[in-house]
Amino acid sequence: MKNISILGSTGSIGKQTLDVIKSHKKEFKVLGLAAFNEVDKIIEQIKEFKPEKVCLFEEKAAQELEKKTDVEVVSGMKGLEEIALMEEVEQVVVSVVGAIGMQPTIKAIRKGKNIALANKETLVAAGEPIMKEAKKSGITLMPIDSEHSALFQCLNGEERSKVSKVIITCSGGPFRGKKIEDFYNATPEQALGHPTWSMGAKITIDSSTLMNKGLEVIEAKWLYDLSFEEIEIVIHPQSLIHSMIEFVDGSIMAQIGTHDMRTPIQYALSYPKRISNKFPRLNLIEAQKMTFEKPDYENFPCLSFAFEAGKIGGTLPAAMNAANEIAVLRFLDKKIKYGQIPEIIKKVMEEHKNRKADSIETVLEADKKAREETKKVIEKL
Ligand code: MG
Repeated sequence: MKNISILGSTGSIGKQTLDVIKSHKKEFKVLGLAAFNEVDKIIEQIKEFKPEKVCLFEEKAAQELEKKTDVEVVSGMKGLEEIALMEEVEQVVVSVVGAIGMQPTIKAIRKGKNIALANKETLVAAGEPIMKEAKKSGITLMPIDSEHSALFQCLNGEERSKVSKVIITCSGGPFRGKKIEDFYNATPEQALGHPTWSMGAKITIDSSTLMNKGLEVIEAKWLYDLSFEEIEIVIHPQSLIHSMIEFVDGSIMAQIGTHDMRTPIQYALSYPKRISNKFPRLNLIEAQKMTFEKPDYENFPCLSFAFEAGKIGGTLPAAMNAANEIAVLRFLDKKIKYGQIPEIIKKVMEEHKNRKADSIETVLEADKKAREETKKVIEKL
């Protein structure tokens, strides 16, 4: 029995993690749950999974929850960290959205907790200090992202030195094949229409601008100690191959499956074991075809920004990520146009004063500054 806490339990990945746990009650037990402010949803989860401690990030929501449950309730960043650091917890699922995941993740690593990471922003912004701490603590950092889970599975038992490149697949999003002027004024509803995966709002917008793929490139760099020259992006609209590894002998290993996040989530929880489940299987005859295209860096500049930020390094990826988070939220609030998202990010990256990103404090400071800068850039639009 593995004791688990989940940061972000009411979001898309959090709910699917609980679904995995529900179908493997002998393997996993939930000790802590944390969410942003959804009182009713977390009450349902408390009833079903009986955690020992629960955090609602927003204090008002936490106070409301306290009146409705006997379970210990905590709040704020301190509360989020408390859930991550619970004594008996062995693995922390980090599925909160955005850079908010950085602090609790690093503290949990320092305490020797294994991590199942769905929050790619954490590695993008703070890859260097996180990987350093993970190595020092000897913990296992399991990716939940389908692409990185695919890479992990393909690399399993292989020698890192025999990898010639990694090929990360990308669906291309809802605007694939179009010119930027055709979707510059896209509405949130249009941008949220992802062709293959069903995910939360922020990541779905990121998938439409291809920033999601850019963040994944940086995430892969840190997880698998890659240079950016070793990472290739291939557009694969059917999203059946979740990513591939090419080895020095020319052999390519791929991981293939349905568009069901519960599979990589389950693997992240059960590793090094593989356990069975009753989730739908991929029928290759019905799927029929798999096609591949070159990525379009011109009409999807966010992908180039990520490669650029990743190669330059330092605090630039943190600044890019912060600018993207703010811009996407403003777009979802209908405060800016869709086509302004990359324009804003570009401006913030240009203005950024780059520093070494070797400590979590430096990264957090760069993140904060870039958020302020982004708000200024948006005001001037
Ligand atoms: Mg992904």
